[in-house]
Amino acid sequence: MAAGREAAGRVPAPRRSPRTRPPCAAAAAAIGSRAAPSPAEPRRAQAAAGPAPAAIAMSFLFGSRSSKTFKPKKNIPEGSHQYELLKHAEATLGSGNLRMAVMLPEGEDLNEWVAVNTVDFFNQINMLYGTITDFCTEESCPVMSAGPKYEYHWADGTNIKKPIKCSAPKYIDYLMTWVQDQLDDETLFPSKIGVPFPKNFMSVAKTILKRLFRVYAHIYHQHFDPVIQLQEEAHLNTSFKHFIFFVQEFNLIDRRELAPLQELIEKLTSKDR
Ligand SMILES: [Zn+2]
Repeated sequence: MAAGREAAGRVPAPRRSPRTRPPCAAAAAAIGSRAAPSPAEPRRAQAAAGPAPAAIAMSFLFGSRSSKTFKPKKNIPEGSHQYELLKHAEATLGSGNLRMAVMLPEGEDLNEWVAVNTVDFFNQINMLYGTITDFCTEESCPVMSAGPKYEYHWADGTNIKKPIKCSAPKYIDYLMTWVQDQLDDETLFPSKIGVPFPKNFMSVAKTILKRLFRVYAHIYHQHFDPVIQLQEEAHLNTSFKHFIFFVQEFNLIDRRELAPLQELIEKLTSKDR
């Protein structure tokens, strides 16, 4: 496997499937990687992961709830075409049909649609993680994990090339800062009309989404209890479902990367087929 492709140092449980290759030489052995024939996790998350009413999705997306974000929200400038697209996305999401809502609107540019939605997902995850930062500490989460079988080591491929093992709060801080930097890079995410997207845009967007997924996976596996206590469960499920429908629609994340939440994904998506 190319080191560059796996720059974030994903460490899956390589022995779970004979077809799964170890991700990279630098990766440490996965925690508890002995075969686990019954994928038991995250049962509670799945049991509770019913479709949230459209009204909840709306209130979430329109930010009517108090929002403590982890990093500053990334704004799409009002009056821009991307802002129009964002409003279109919000309006179609309100219809409650997520499969339809994620589709590329007629006549629109795919890069631009992916860009707008990527910014939106960053903002959603930023807010969701922001609500549970008190529970995600060096002590509670000394490693960045998604259940007992998946551990992630951070590398961004530029500043940190060799994956480093660090706590979840540190990893997520690195991750969200890195995503912010990409979103703020005008050469990658041009906000001005007429400025083209770079040729590598889609591959950067895929890496961003692949990494953002890990924050969902960490929250579901390690912090679902406080999510329930804070009554953020419907938000989390709606946001994650939207995210999954979006990445499925455009094939943006490898199935293998989604393995830590595969059962939940199947549950969330089977109802809407
Ligand atoms: Zn944590």
